[in-house]
Amino acid sequence: MIAQPKASHYIDGNWLEDTAGAPLEVINPATGEVIARLHEATPAIIDAALNAAKRAQAEWAARKPVERGRILRRAADLILAQGDSLARLETLDTGKPLQETLVADWPSGADALEYFGGLAATVTGETIPLGGDFAYTLREALGVCVGIGAWNYPSQIACWKSAPALAMGNAMVFKPSEMTPLGALRLAEIFTEAGLPAGLFNVVQGRGAVGASLVTDARVDKVSLTGSVPTGRKVYAAAAEGVRHVTMELGGKSPLIIFDDADVESAVGAAMMANFYSAGQVCSNGTRVFVQKGIRKAFLERLAARAEKIVLGDPLDMATQMGPLISPAQHEKVLAYIAGACAEGATLVTGGGNHGQFVEPTVFADVTDDMTIAREEVFGPVMAVFDFDDEDEVIARANATEFGLAAGVFTADLTRAHRVIGALEAGTCWINTYNLTPVEMPFGGVKMSGVGRENGKAALEYYSQIKSVYVGMGPVDAPY
Ligand code: NAD
Repeated sequence: MIAQPKASHYIDGNWLEDTAGAPLEVINPATGEVIARLHEATPAIIDAALNAAKRAQAEWAARKPVERGRILRRAADLILAQGDSLARLETLDTGKPLQETLVADWPSGADALEYFGGLAATVTGETIPLGGDFAYTLREALGVCVGIGAWNYPSQIACWKSAPALAMGNAMVFKPSEMTPLGALRLAEIFTEAGLPAGLFNVVQGRGAVGASLVTDARVDKVSLTGSVPTGRKVYAAAAEGVRHVTMELGGKSPLIIFDDADVESAVGAAMMANFYSAGQVCSNGTRVFVQKGIRKAFLERLAARAEKIVLGDPLDMATQMGPLISPAQHEKVLAYIAGACAEGATLVTGGGNHGQFVEPTVFADVTDDMTIAREEVFGPVMAVFDFDDEDEVIARANATEFGLAAGVFTADLTRAHRVIGALEAGTCWINTYNLTPVEMPFGGVKMSGVGRENGKAALEYYSQIKSVYVGMGPVDAPY
């Protein structure tokens, strides 16, 4: 077992095991090999994690913000110093090619730790003059935050959630996806090495039921989930029972709109980035590619030519550009969507085949808005291309979905670009590019795609609360 950690859980600064928990096998999606054997958290493990977080949080919140930030920035440096080994672990855990995990996953996590580490000491309240009297506000930590991750960017998600949480003085109990449990354990070790006091970042393993028991615990003040819409609805409802704060980063079916005047090569490149990166397993993917009729032929020709050159293979080989899907179940699901699109009358432009757990980069044209592939999140390397005539029509069609995570527009017309973006119902948008998510830019969805924002200064607001203080400066004027 080439990636066996010292124990399943990391609690209060130490590895912890409880073999009474249900077994959890960690499988390399590229080979089917078992790379680690873990156990799900038992109630005793969950209790230990929440107790440790509760105990550690008050002392951490009382520290100078600049000290908290320094520890986060040290953790970022440690991540960057061991970039190669962390990327290899991420590749084994997720099946994503090393050429992605070396530049996207952990490096993006390090960006978050450095960014929020730097921001920690900049957070201030306001003073409010009231004519003699005055008020002021303090931005305080929430307390114990639960983070629950998806399997597509496991280590990045752990960093994106823990960095703003810890910067604001909270503690975190993090439950990674049961399919990708390894990166968060490495992050816990790195935090300890960086000097983070014990109990502030705890990792517990398990399937959905472990997540569910965390969400309803009285010690928990906030829940941040990255996952699918059905899970989001359940977690949001459970958190509401205790009136807990939430951040919900959920699924999408995002539109990418390409007008006739767009640069074809850039638009094709962006559409490929928006559908094939991480074998299409990206929440913000632009899976509905609307192409104006005048550019359609040129776009599809270049797209097919470039998509057919994508190299599938061993994710640890630096030449490999696309790895397998995460699991046999996800693979079956994606193949079913491909078969369904063919049956519903979409034109298969390229791809559609599969090799083991790998699916070829697949493009469908002539997709209509009522087809299943136009409405549901596929989460695989499957692009749906739609035709359109004019701006008003495409805006209405782009918005005709329950999702609202992301959107993109390609055009050389400056005012049209901003006008269209202004009309799109999406939380995260791009003009003449796609899927870039720098830590400086808030990220998140509207409609069913989520609540709250990660990244940017905005994320700090979702890991803190305002205390208002009225200061009376004169005698109390009571009417009694
Ligand atoms: P999922 O919803 O199946 O699981 C997400 C996490 O929730 C897992 O850790 C799972 O164990 C846990 N969980 C399941 N049921 C639970 C419950 N009742 N209570 C508490 N926790 C529970 O999602 P997934 O298959 O791991 O990830 C893919 C989905 O995530 C896609 O829909 C994708 O769009 C979405 N996603 C969104 C973002 C974003 O930032 N918006 C990022 C990545 C992935």
